[in-house]
Amino acid sequence: MSYGPAPESANAANAFLEAHGRTFQLFIGGNWQPPASETYFESINPSTKQPLAKIAEGNAEDVDAAVAAAREVLPAWAGLGGHQRARYLYAIARQIQKHARLFSVLESMDNGKPIRETRDIDIPLVARHFYHHAGWAQLMDTELSAYKEIGVIGQIIPWNFPLLMLAWKIAPALAMGNTVVLKPAEYTSLTALLFAEICQNIGLPKGVLNVVTGAGATGAALVKHPNVQKIAFTGSTEVGRIIRRAIAGSGKKLSLELGGKSPFIVFEDADLDSVVEGVVDAIWFNQGQVCCAGSRLLVEESVSEVLYAKLKARMEQLIVGNPLDKCVDIGAIVDKVQVKTIDELVQKGIHEGYAAWQPTAICPSEGYYYPPTLFTNVSPAATIAQEEIFGPVLVAMPFRSHKEAVALANNTRYGLAASVWTEDINLALSIAPQIKAGSVWVNCTNMFDAASGFGGYRESGFGREGGREGLFEYIQPRMEATLSDKPFLPKIAAESKTAASKNGLPLPDIDRTAKMYIGGKQARPDGGYSMVIRSRSGTYIGEVAEGNRKDLRNAVEAAHANSAWSNMTGHARAQVLYYIAENLAVRRAEFARRLAQMGGQTMEDALLEVDTAIERIYTYAAYADKYDGRVHSTVLNHVTLAMPEAIGVLAIICPDESPLLGFVSTVIPAIAMGNSVVVVPSETAPLSATDFYQILDTSDVPGGTVNIVTGKKEELAPELARHDNVDGIWYFGTKEGSQKVEYLSSDNMKRSWVNYGKYRNWSDTVQGAGEIFLRHATQIKNIWIPYGV
Ligand code: NDP
Repeated sequence: MSYGPAPESANAANAFLEAHGRTFQLFIGGNWQPPASETYFESINPSTKQPLAKIAEGNAEDVDAAVAAAREVLPAWAGLGGHQRARYLYAIARQIQKHARLFSVLESMDNGKPIRETRDIDIPLVARHFYHHAGWAQLMDTELSAYKEIGVIGQIIPWNFPLLMLAWKIAPALAMGNTVVLKPAEYTSLTALLFAEICQNIGLPKGVLNVVTGAGATGAALVKHPNVQKIAFTGSTEVGRIIRRAIAGSGKKLSLELGGKSPFIVFEDADLDSVVEGVVDAIWFNQGQVCCAGSRLLVEESVSEVLYAKLKARMEQLIVGNPLDKCVDIGAIVDKVQVKTIDELVQKGIHEGYAAWQPTAICPSEGYYYPPTLFTNVSPAATIAQEEIFGPVLVAMPFRSHKEAVALANNTRYGLAASVWTEDINLALSIAPQIKAGSVWVNCTNMFDAASGFGGYRESGFGREGGREGLFEYIQPRMEATLSDKPFLPKIAAESKTAASKNGLPLPDIDRTAKMYIGGKQARPDGGYSMVIRSRSGTYIGEVAEGNRKDLRNAVEAAHANSAWSNMTGHARAQVLYYIAENLAVRRAEFARRLAQMGGQTMEDALLEVDTAIERIYTYAAYADKYDGRVHSTVLNHVTLAMPEAIGVLAIICPDESPLLGFVSTVIPAIAMGNSVVVVPSETAPLSATDFYQILDTSDVPGGTVNIVTGKKEELAPELARHDNVDGIWYFGTKEGSQKVEYLSSDNMKRSWVNYGKYRNWSDTVQGAGEIFLRHATQIKNIWIPYGV
């Protein structure tokens, strides 16, 4: 028995195209307008190579008009309140459901993906995202009252899930009171234009959504526009990097959802028949043009040959053909350019000595197709095992031990998703946290839902889309508006009131050069240089080591070598933090004298800074076992665990001001969450940080948890920003320094958090402490576990 063709009718989609004369304008300020350039590009149906429509090519002038429209309506839209916005989002969701068939067919024709997928996955999920975020709009005032909208958001989306990526971006942005300028992918603009029409029909206020179609240059103009407050991008890591660099230092917020090379790990006790169906969903869903495609099959050696045989048998059954045919498993590739990219990588694999296996069934001769392809026993270093192919190509390799499976899974610069297959729940839940990826699917794959965040680790980008965690990409703390352009420095006391004279106590040692602190030990600087430290009035106080690149390298190595800290429970970490606070309290007067000596404040003010530091350590000790995750309410019969995980090795460039409190307020939340840190303390007043390692030494902090490298922050910060083994960086300094850090962080796409030259009052609990520090110290991993029979 074989399946006969069961084609879905293209009539409604063709009628829609005809109704527009197969020509589409730009949607700006609620109106359809021709592009300033008066040029149009063609959108084709990749399964027939026939043109579908002409699409306006927007340029910088059009982007400017769209941003102006979005900016104009922003106060009214944000001011409308959550409930009114919820009503609009709800209306959009209803319209999507009402026009689901048209959307599905149009998407299928424009992109080449099978109608089964657009009908059953893409479009229902689009509606789900608008419903879900209508709910968040409704709840914003109660659940997120300390936050407000960001402003005008520039959103740039790819061609692989055109309408779904639109929904992932537009729904949370509008719900949170932002307005949007969207640039769809050149290959696939049509459903975005139909969506704009729907927004027009439901009476969405003009300018809230603007769609400027066009090429990469149109996207670049949006990225550069000075009145855009945030860029949300999904696409290639290469373009993500260009965008990170283009907006570095501008203060624009950024979320990046980039490429992947996700592992699909099969242990020997897995149900291999289910595994085979899982692989089909992992790599042949959307022709493999999926950022989180399970493109690397890692199989326990004992079952690898059996699995390959089952897989090949299944591949023989896959039907490649007309995307509008409901029986088709694999549709067309989006464009001939993508076919070429896929084939070049496959040829490279063959050239490097690996055998490509393809089923005997042939692809249609008309249109852009690529057969499902399997490479087995590929070396982890092979190009095809490392590069994102973005096509229906699976690369398989065996492993012998659980440890090797994890090592192979993490042997990639990406970290978007992973799939773990085993009948042993203990094994699954021990492997999942070890994999550096934003989503881990246990005995399932490619699971998405609006209630769960999706996004990457490492070069797969940063930020989350969906779930409560995704909302933070579209809001900013109200507190940020109160940050100052000048640092908060303590008042200098009259000479008679300074620490030494007031208390008659001796000043701390002045003839000692404070060393650095690396791997739990004091360390001399590699360069052998030291820096003189003076009080604010210019008196010589002492010297500190002047760290350089090699010292940072040693510090990063020591931080990586320390697994003891990240493996401790939150409760155990809390105990160590309380101990730190206790030891600081014992040496309260000594630290206050040091502060007064460096900052010139009264002993009273200095004691207050120490006391606030002790209180702050208590705060984060308290949070250590309380800043935990959620169980998201996603799809039926699945538990979706959203777990905040440590970033890994965090570099922290401390503020110069508040030398003790600034140090404690940044380092302690970072380690409370399980990170190891490399800290550059205040450059001008580092001595309370170098004194602090005596506290660390006596508080049971494992060596390598906190590494302190003193020196010139504007020299050390760029080194840390470009360091490949640093996973994240916080920088509190100048505007120029912030720009440099953001720019250089793009090398390995590390997370960066900078202050753009704005200063916090560290003694203020709203500006100097709180959940925001914990959020920047963690990233959310969503683990999906199915249950039931
Ligand atoms: P791109 O990253 O080039 O495109 C994504 C979006 O960015 C598109 O809208 C594109 O416009 C736009 N764009 C391109 N250049 C710029 C720029 N300089 N500034 C701002 N926006 C820009 O991906 P491609 O479509 O070219 O695909 C290339 C590869 O990227 C694929 O083979 C695949 O490996 C990967 N990819 C990954 C995706 C993911 O989800 N992670 C999605 C898509 C691709 P335009 O469409 O006009 O080029």
